[in-house]
Amino acid sequence: MRLGVYIILLSFVWTMTAFAGEVMDIKAEQTASEEAKVNFSVRDISKADVKIFEISGDKPRIVVDIADANSNLLRSGSYKQSYEESVVSIRGAIRPNKTIRFVVDLLPGSKLQSKQIRHDQIQLVIETIETKPKSRLEFASTEKIVKTSSKVPIPRIKPKVEHKPVIVIDAGHGGHDPGALGTKGLREKRVTLKAALELKRQLLLTGRYKVVLTRSSDRYVEHDDRLRVARANNADLFISIHADATEGKTARGASVYTLADRAKNRSKRIVNSQNWIMDVNLSEQTDKVGDILVDLAQRNTATQSTKFADILISKLGTSTHLLRNTHRRAGYYVLLAPDVPAVLLELGFISNPTDERLLNSDTHRRNLMTSVTSAINTYFSR
Ligand SMILES: [Zn+2]
Repeated sequence: MRLGVYIILLSFVWTMTAFAGEVMDIKAEQTASEEAKVNFSVRDISKADVKIFEISGDKPRIVVDIADANSNLLRSGSYKQSYEESVVSIRGAIRPNKTIRFVVDLLPGSKLQSKQIRHDQIQLVIETIETKPKSRLEFASTEKIVKTSSKVPIPRIKPKVEHKPVIVIDAGHGGHDPGALGTKGLREKRVTLKAALELKRQLLLTGRYKVVLTRSSDRYVEHDDRLRVARANNADLFISIHADATEGKTARGASVYTLADRAKNRSKRIVNSQNWIMDVNLSEQTDKVGDILVDLAQRNTATQSTKFADILISKLGTSTHLLRNTHRRAGYYVLLAPDVPAVLLELGFISNPTDERLLNSDTHRRNLMTSVTSAINTYFSR
């Protein structure tokens, strides 16, 4: 009996090793004045296991993730090779779930021109800079700064230049999902969209922000797409707008939710499943360190979210009735991005006749959004 179990286990292990792909070698070369090539020599890699994506900014990078693969280059857990030309360095590390990740660091201005995945080779063709390269000295000093700041866990590369804060406004529900229904038939999805559009209008009037909506019409957007919009736009603040409902009709007032502590592991799982790269030095990274960096990012994000929630509640108090225990915590999916401060704002109870009438009023919604705009101004003027 026991022997049988061992044999099954052994053959399982053997199968895993036999079919896992392998990265055997990596070469980078400047093939022309404005072109460089990176070749990964591989074996048994299937196209479906390879994900290549680009991170632009002042430190452009190409990330190559290969699922179900090994590499001798990663024997010690990580890999780093530096170059003199437009490919600055190539770093590699082992990720959870048998995925290996290589990051190709490029000079500013360089970008991925084309990629090719074959069973024996992955090739990246890189269009290199046209601008005058920095002098050695300048480059060396930049390197130094990067080294020092790599101790600080910044989850994403943000341009160092002053930029307008990016506000992502998420109108809850939409399309086939009407959300809560009022006693007089008001639909939550209409209230949230109108409020979102009004908030956008007011924010743009200040000239201080870049504003992105997750939806601007009556359509349904998947939850992870709402998060993706926030991340793709490098959001500095994410506000999801909803209206509450309960069984009884008495509850009324606005409330603000931030992410509950107990939802943090879920947030971490999303980081892995959606391939969110945290800005960490992979050459020094182990899974543990990666986890710590996600933890730190989450803690920082939670602090920021709470700060904004507190400001928002004090401003909302001037324009509407507040639900008791106004600041609440929950594990709502749209609050899960570990590196985007986020709140979910419940404007009032659509199930309460007074709130329903108010939520349906243009004037009331305008006043509410003036409070939100004022909160955003205060939050970003610190
Ligand atoms: Zn809702």
